[in-house]
Amino acid sequence: MAAEKVNTLVWFRSDLRVQDNQTLMAACEHAVSKGLLLRAIFIATPQQWLQHDVAPIQLDFIERQLNELAVALAALGIPLDVYHLNTFDDIPAYLKQYVEQWQVDSVFASSEPEFNECQRDLAVAAKVNLSLYQQHCLLAPLSVLNLAGKMYKVFTPFGKKWREIARSKPIHTLVTPNAIAAPIRVTEPVRLQCAKVCSKAWAVGEHAALAQLREFALTKAADYKAFRDFPAIDGTSQISAYLAVGILSSRQCIVALLSHYPDALVHDESPGRCWLNEIIWREFYRHLLVAFPRLSKAQNFNPLADNIVWRNNETEFKAWCDGRTGYPLVDAAMRQLNQTGWMHNRLRMVVASFLTKHLLIDWRWGERYFRQKLIDGDLAANNGGWQWSAGTGCDAQPYFRVFNPISQCEKFDPTGEFIRNYLPELKGVDLKLIHKLKIPTQAQLFSDSHYICPIVDHKLARERALKELAAMKRGNNPVAAIDLDKEIFG
Ligand code: FAD
Repeated sequence: MAAEKVNTLVWFRSDLRVQDNQTLMAACEHAVSKGLLLRAIFIATPQQWLQHDVAPIQLDFIERQLNELAVALAALGIPLDVYHLNTFDDIPAYLKQYVEQWQVDSVFASSEPEFNECQRDLAVAAKVNLSLYQQHCLLAPLSVLNLAGKMYKVFTPFGKKWREIARSKPIHTLVTPNAIAAPIRVTEPVRLQCAKVCSKAWAVGEHAALAQLREFALTKAADYKAFRDFPAIDGTSQISAYLAVGILSSRQCIVALLSHYPDALVHDESPGRCWLNEIIWREFYRHLLVAFPRLSKAQNFNPLADNIVWRNNETEFKAWCDGRTGYPLVDAAMRQLNQTGWMHNRLRMVVASFLTKHLLIDWRWGERYFRQKLIDGDLAANNGGWQWSAGTGCDAQPYFRVFNPISQCEKFDPTGEFIRNYLPELKGVDLKLIHKLKIPTQAQLFSDSHYICPIVDHKLARERALKELAAMKRGNNPVAAIDLDKEIFG
């Protein structure tokens, strides 16, 4: 049955908000100017989510936010339909039929940086009138380029150029659009038909997310540099889950920060600069994903890394996943991930270095496990973080830098508070013993604590890693080295 009046459609994907949503604003303006009705849809693709390893906790978080979004849209007179298909491949034909059924003149959506998502949008655009708006970054991918007109491969000059461009533009957030019709009652709750894990520890709704962001900007951003590396201290913003599904925008973060530290874009010494740089790191990885689609295809950024022979021992991988490596900081971090769906950034670096360097397990295994568990799972940041840690990425840790999980523990959990919180078996163990962890004395040290012996010796593992990862030393493989030089400098 065809609808009576022609409609405009706004298609929500990873921009699940009504405030500062350029796509929604544009759709509303279009509908109002043409005297049309506006409808909204969200298309669930459970098979695609499985293929992309989207964590059940993130899916639960998305479901809860969709219920919030449905209410917020209903107040604006916009009905939200949620449809289930299997994969992205099913979307173009489905949307074509939807557009015909509802007499839709245009579909509005926010662009996404990942390769499969871009391919999906190309296929949809071939069937319906699709208008895409870039708002997952403050500055659009491919707009922050070096003098040769190419994407930067190093963060520092990218950050400098990013700040220069950002300074030259007015940065304002958009308000919620005006209602375009009488409010609607939401009668049915949204239920996503897929495996989910309870995400209740994370509040949903734009109000809660914005309150958390603003509180951080007001009370913690200035001390971020001093406290951000200590997992026992609540020193970071914990907004990554909101950014990942678009409950918050990058622009809202920057505006919240600049409202307290207006010099953050200008002065290196600004108390707001350190946190601003993290938002720019997020953008850097998204720009890289667009400039180098191979990153979305699980390929090494650095082709020399193709020469690495990973050990890929499944028993050791399982021990790492379960937080049973015998290295307290690594184990506490993995248990934080398994229990909460989130992990502190310092610990993400420590466990990623441990997996790829101490255990010589392919970074893709760890990247995938993170995706399956993280509430803030995000291809660009996750891939960037893993390849950075493994030394295979862009502007990465050099292959010969192997984090020492014992000294990292002494430095960043000096009181043992974090470790003891996640490893109750170490509660009664003297801190000095935990920090001096060494095999073979390990077994004796912890004989009363039921804590396991390290699955690998730090010194030996380090030497093994240096030997194997030297495959990435430039010059080992002249052809790949030349190609890489061309790509980076040419
Ligand atoms: P804050 O320290 O308060 O930073 C604010 C925001 O800046 C974050 O929410 C995030 O959006 C962004 N940000 C901060 N650090 C980074 C970074 N290194 N790279 C990119 N963006 C950053 N972040 C994700 O959002 N999703 C992931 O799947 C993800 N996987 C990671 C995997 C590894 C191996 C590593 C080393 C890092 C990963 N990160 C990921 C980046 C970072 O760890 C998290 O963004 C951060 O811990 C989230 O906590 P927060 O919101 O308190 O961050």
